[in-house]
Amino acid sequence: MNIAILGAGAMGSLFGGLLAEAGQDVILLDINDAHLNAIREHGLGVHTDSGDRRIRQLTAIRPEQADKSPDLLIVFTKTLHTEAALAGVRRLLSPETLVLTLQNGLGNIEAVSRHVRQNRILIGMTTWPADLVGPGQVHSHGKGLVRIMPVEIQQQKAAARVAEILNLAGLRCEVDPQAWAAIWEKVAFNAALNSLCAVTGCTVGQLNAIPDGPALARAVVAEVIATAQSAGVNADTAHCMASVADALAKHKTHKPSMLQDVLAGRQTEIESINGEVVARAHRAGIAVPHTEMLLGLVRLIQARKAEDA
Ligand code: NAD
Repeated sequence: MNIAILGAGAMGSLFGGLLAEAGQDVILLDINDAHLNAIREHGLGVHTDSGDRRIRQLTAIRPEQADKSPDLLIVFTKTLHTEAALAGVRRLLSPETLVLTLQNGLGNIEAVSRHVRQNRILIGMTTWPADLVGPGQVHSHGKGLVRIMPVEIQQQKAAARVAEILNLAGLRCEVDPQAWAAIWEKVAFNAALNSLCAVTGCTVGQLNAIPDGPALARAVVAEVIATAQSAGVNADTAHCMASVADALAKHKTHKPSMLQDVLAGRQTEIESINGEVVARAHRAGIAVPHTEMLLGLVRLIQARKAEDA
């Protein structure tokens, strides 16, 4: 398959690298020139539990340099960059191009469908972790999975084909008609832990230092899952609470990406996580005071950082 990865940072490099290694024709599209140059010069360094290797059989270019229409475009920018990134490749999208978004948060279908017909969009979530540790170098340790579904039910076959290709690359993908539950559970997890860490400066494990940390995280999870259920999504509170408790106990030194973004003075994905939850909760008449407080605090931090810059 001819695959373009739009946003080849941590996740895009991991998926692009593994897909290229499995024999797919992969183009990485990004605007980070240092990263693109490193890949062109030395190959993409991929460091996983399967070992360290350099993958050279892929193309790494800026979006404006691309001229081939992909069969599959995987969107892996941060959500706040989706609009600009898709606008930059719109001329490449043919009526046959499938577009898959595995980005975190909510509102991704709405963002992609401003550029792509709904019957070409696949949505999902992934629990694979990835870190870009330097230009051209991606690390991912542990095991993850991918759950995808087509936005329109008639496209099950297309979703199955994409899942097969991801599986050939070892990415453990299932077509899951309940993918919305998994997407919302991950939103609940991130709305709780990412924003609490971003506001406090704590690593995930440090939130466990006093009982208030886990209590606040549980309060956010309960609010987000109630919002999901009000929208008819069968998200599971107990499952999500267990994932949060597990992360608090085990991810002692992990700095979630929202904390890393705050520390680096960058804008975060808060609007597509806590922001989308609060908007949907308000429309449904549900009170989400903890999620809303964290949204306001992260917005304030971002505004201050922008003023300082
Ligand atoms: P990242 O910041 O490492 O990568 C994003 C890339 O997009 C960057 O390389 C950036 O240069 C590029 N980009 C920005 N604007 C662009 C444009 N206009 N055109 C092309 N490229 C552009 O982010 P990430 O950690 O890979 O996360 C990507 C998405 O996946 C996010 O929604 C994140 O929440 C989600 N996610 C991340 C992880 C993880 O462990 N990193 C896990 C699951 C899901």
